[in-house]
Amino acid sequence: MTTITSFTSHDVRFPTSLDKTGSDGMNRGPDYSAAYCILQTNSEHSGHGMTFTIGRGNDLVCNAIDLIAPLVVSRKLDDLVRNWAQTWRYLTSDSQLRWVGPEKGVVHMALGAVVNAIWDLWGKVEGKPVWKLIADMTPEEVVRCIDFRYLTDALTPDEALELLRETRVGKAERMEKVQQNRAVSAYTTSAGWLGYGKDKMRALLKQTLAEGFKHFKLKVGGSLEEDKERLSLAREVIGYDQGNVLMVDANQVWSVPEAIEYMTELAEFKPWFIEEPTSPDDILGHAAIRKGLKGKVGVATGEMVQNRIVFKQLLQAGAIDVLQPDACRVGGVNEVLAILLLAHKFKVPIVPHSGGVGLPEYTQHLSTIDYLVISGEKSILEYVDHLHEHFLEPAQTEAGHYVTPRAPGYSVQMKPESLEEFSFPGGPKSWWRSEAAKGILNGDRGLAPL
Ligand SMILES: [Mg+2]
Repeated sequence: MTTITSFTSHDVRFPTSLDKTGSDGMNRGPDYSAAYCILQTNSEHSGHGMTFTIGRGNDLVCNAIDLIAPLVVSRKLDDLVRNWAQTWRYLTSDSQLRWVGPEKGVVHMALGAVVNAIWDLWGKVEGKPVWKLIADMTPEEVVRCIDFRYLTDALTPDEALELLRETRVGKAERMEKVQQNRAVSAYTTSAGWLGYGKDKMRALLKQTLAEGFKHFKLKVGGSLEEDKERLSLAREVIGYDQGNVLMVDANQVWSVPEAIEYMTELAEFKPWFIEEPTSPDDILGHAAIRKGLKGKVGVATGEMVQNRIVFKQLLQAGAIDVLQPDACRVGGVNEVLAILLLAHKFKVPIVPHSGGVGLPEYTQHLSTIDYLVISGEKSILEYVDHLHEHFLEPAQTEAGHYVTPRAPGYSVQMKPESLEEFSFPGGPKSWWRSEAAKGILNGDRGLAPL
């Protein structure tokens, strides 16, 4: 009987701002980071979960992990996973912590790390990757993972059950695709960071095209003139009529009218969608942008949508063409299952958010679950080719597809030496104590002018 005996949290930061990896219209110098949680047990297994952040503030999420993780210490794993919805409700029920949420922001991101660590532990104990844990569940068992509070005006447990039963048709054929590593098509953002020069961009587009990618995403929202040049360059390389798809991402820099105006200018480059055109909280704003760009460019959002309730409203308002859940900003696997079911009910395709350290490791499971169990439809999934070397079981692609993860657990276990080298502020061996780190620590924060 596996019992959780203790936990640790770790503030891990990678200095990606040095080469502008991850840079976009809003985030000029992100340091890809993980608020990382380890659940130790009385067995050989430990559960590893993390939440992605981009540097400063990662310590806040770690502090919140320190407030939530004690709730599972001394608990038996079997008791935690037997009625998952009840466990999830228990973990979100500390009313003093709810006051600084509820179910959003720092406390919810910390919950994501803790919940995902439990799933990782469960997968390891059962000897299964997390996607397989769910693929082996009955529809009733999947529904039992979800806290339906605040959802039943859009989706009831009975409706969810019905949807899951319908999707069982064809599951065996889809499982073959999963086994052949052809279930999840990958798209690339490698060339698209706003801080990259034209030569680097062209070279990376050519390289990823040669590797078999068919979907390419570019950041926009710096200046219209430069964006036109960059999109024009991208279309030169990938063409208009070779089956290659272009997407663009503004990372929330615009107001609603600006988004419509700006994207009308970029519509000639035929992007499939504009991602995060405005604030992720602005449900009616997204609906207005979608209406304004109808027939020209689709609207996508989700990486900073804070919970299932906002996703529900985006769907009810007909505000999005593509839904992009994050694996850990919302409260872990359980809440993502609810969001995937909502998307399926409203017939909106998913493209999970994967632009961050550890996110591809997580989302490869989620897209596989959606394909096998929830929508039954193939979707595409971002693959960012950075920082995978820090994981014991890194996400991989071949021929433009994710290689299905086979190792037990949730794939985000980091190598102990990486945890040590990049811990913040860290011990004597930490990179953050080096001379090179001073450039970031004392550097420009990229603030708006005062
Ligand atoms: Mg994005």
